[in-house]
Amino acid sequence: MDVRAALSAWLDAARDAYGDDLAVRPGGSLARRAAAPAVPPPADHVARPPAPDPAPTPDPAPTPDPAPTPAATTVGSTAPAAELPADLDALRALVADCVRCRLCETRTNVVFGEGAARADVMFVGEAPGQREDELGRPFVGRAGQLLDRIIENGMGLRREDVFIANVNKCRPPGNRDPEPDEIAACLPFLRAQLRAIRPRVIVVLGRIAAQNLLGTTRPMGALRGRELDCEGVPVVATWHPAYLLRNPAAKRETWDDIKRVNRLLGRPEDPRLGGADGPPDG
Ligand code: URA
Ligand code: URA
Repeated sequence: MDVRAALSAWLDAARDAYGDDLAVRPGGSLARRAAAPAVPPPADHVARPPAPDPAPTPDPAPTPDPAPTPAATTVGSTAPAAELPADLDALRALVADCVRCRLCETRTNVVFGEGAARADVMFVGEAPGQREDELGRPFVGRAGQLLDRIIENGMGLRREDVFIANVNKCRPPGNRDPEPDEIAACLPFLRAQLRAIRPRVIVVLGRIAAQNLLGTTRPMGALRGRELDCEGVPVVATWHPAYLLRNPAAKRETWDDIKRVNRLLGRPEDPRLGGADGPPDG
């Protein structure tokens, strides 16, 4: 095994987990999990990053899909994505009265997601916040306004041209991180949405979305800038807009990620006329 590569991967994991997540969102079980492995095990869905060293045990993906651990209050179907409706409207109707996990007890509205049913690009966030829960729409709070600017200024698209969804369709109380069993209960819906929409590029916003869609415990620092894929669809991992609000300096990296999305879509890398230097104002 390559000891230097393993050490560098470990440092990456520790820096990402402790530097960003734990400091800001203590109590996130996935954040703690991500920091635990000395060498993040390679995941099948992660296409390119050099795997440091194959772990002897199978990859403990944060959310095995499908294998939700039912919460005490969980009732109803736990059908895997393949058994869910292939039609987006039928799926929306099914999710509307979902009781697969405890988040149904505290939600105001299910936030299914919205946008073009045939969108070329799909953005995937973590879970609804307060405003999203109130309105039943994804990314409509402060982070959502920044996402709108990224879509408009960075891609030259309108919000309604893309599809915006979350890993979890219901708001975790107090905006805590979703628990692994809540993620496992909801992930089949996201996978079914992806199959219905068939985007050409998936943009995962932040660690929770990236790790769970890709089935990896790798930290954001190891996922950003890499060629990733989910069921053959290219995935670009970038910072969550809420993280960008706290760390505006990271917007430059998001701009690099968005330029890659534009290239993957065969669109101009910089949609602004004249190609001004630096990230579009956001
Ligand atoms: N943060 C998310 O991850 N999703 C939303 O819909 C809003 C904020
Ligand atoms: N932690 C996250 O969960 N997402 C980010 O984008 C950055 C740090």
